[in-house]
Amino acid sequence: MPIDATTTRRWLEVAAERLAEERVWLTELDSAIGDADHGANMERGFAAAAERARALPDATPGQLLIAAGMTIMTVVAGSAGALWGSALRRAGKVLGDASSVEPAVFADALDAALAAMQELGGALEGQATMLDALGPGLRALRERLPGEEFSAAAAAAAAAAANGARATVAMRATKGRGSYLGERSVGHQDPGATSAAIVLDALAVATAGPPTA
Ligand code: ADP
Ligand code: MG
Repeated sequence: MPIDATTTRRWLEVAAERLAEERVWLTELDSAIGDADHGANMERGFAAAAERARALPDATPGQLLIAAGMTIMTVVAGSAGALWGSALRRAGKVLGDASSVEPAVFADALDAALAAMQELGGALEGQATMLDALGPGLRALRERLPGEEFSAAAAAAAAAAANGARATVAMRATKGRGSYLGERSVGHQDPGATSAAIVLDALAVATAGPPTA
């Protein structure tokens, strides 16, 4: 099933809801290795992005993601704001002005989003960042997409991303604020990886269609 503007808008909305629900947890994780603002950053950023998307009823999926990225960059001061902002903008550019896109094209856009994060932050997988959730998540999406509905593939991606986030516990952070702790960052789950898995989970929910209840 192609992904249209309604689904894209819903992704941002579900992400905002889920991040708000997990704000306290994300803040706890960031208080162990950072400055305890990650929950608030992600909640505020995606809430503003969802609100912006609601205010653009005629926008295409690509235009919505570009607007969402610019909004997140503007309202979130932390690293995650810059990283997610540039990621969503890059994804939006890949989607262009099409009114709906095939799943494989949406997956291309997500890969481009990850590449934008890598370029901006200079991190690689294995350094205990959001890349450690998104990398395995997007690889799972690619593996599943040829034979599965997008929402099922996205659910597998979210599960792989959550596993990736858990795997950051054993990693030493060498990028971002966690790196200030050096060896002491080992034993803590990365907040940005944790929220990235939530954002992918929201994509699975949004692409599964409107709630039936
Ligand atoms: P800040 O670190 O500025 O307080 P946040 O707390 O919102 O910003 O985000 C922290 C998260 O950002 C980290 O948990 C990590 O996943 C991610 N992060 C930080 N620096 C980088 C980087 N260079 N590359 C990729 N992700 C990063
Ligand atoms: Mg922080």
